[in-house]
Amino acid sequence: MGTEIKDRMVKFFAKDDRLVTVNAAQGHFATSQSHINYYIDVTRIKIRTKEAMEAAKSLESKMLHRITTVDTIVCLDATSVLGGFLAAELEKGDFHNTNMHETVYVVEPEENSIHQFMFRENVKPAVQGKNVIVLVDTMTTGETVKRSIECIEYYGGIVQGVVSIFSITDHIDDVQVISLFTADDMPGYATYSPSECPFCKKGIPLDAMVNGYGYSKL
Ligand SMILES: [Zn+2]
Repeated sequence: MGTEIKDRMVKFFAKDDRLVTVNAAQGHFATSQSHINYYIDVTRIKIRTKEAMEAAKSLESKMLHRITTVDTIVCLDATSVLGGFLAAELEKGDFHNTNMHETVYVVEPEENSIHQFMFRENVKPAVQGKNVIVLVDTMTTGETVKRSIECIEYYGGIVQGVVSIFSITDHIDDVQVISLFTADDMPGYATYSPSECPFCKKGIPLDAMVNGYGYSKL
């Protein structure tokens, strides 16, 4: 497509909270697992405190009655600003936690050179035997989230749910996914395995590679 990705960005409002917005552009994009026809830019929610605070409130109300106990939030995709505000909302609300100090832990796993997630000794107690939620920015194939759930379980954590800004599914295996935006909010949203991608088949070049940090043009 001829125009710049940033000029194609359209603002989308969350159904239940008009103060929560993301930008998205249509095109041909590659994630680490799939090709998608939308790039969803959730940067505002990740780096602006006012937006993160509002998104956290919205997530907390969506989590009510679906998740009762949260000891720890495991943040993937550089979501720890949002994770911090979400922890504060959960502490104010009707959520239980079993932590000795009655506060919600917010941690980020490390990823080693063979893409396994791991927790160091000093962080392990925040996961072992704890009720954990996984916080991600956008979830398409869910492969990364699956790896993180496996990792949390290796460390003895109990995964109560996945919470995300955008997700195309409401569950991953038997774990529930709660998100602010779904594929229904993005008209015609589609994800393809790279070998089945209709854009690639037509010889349409990729606009950009995308990951949790943003996009890089090709
Ligand atoms: Zn493609």
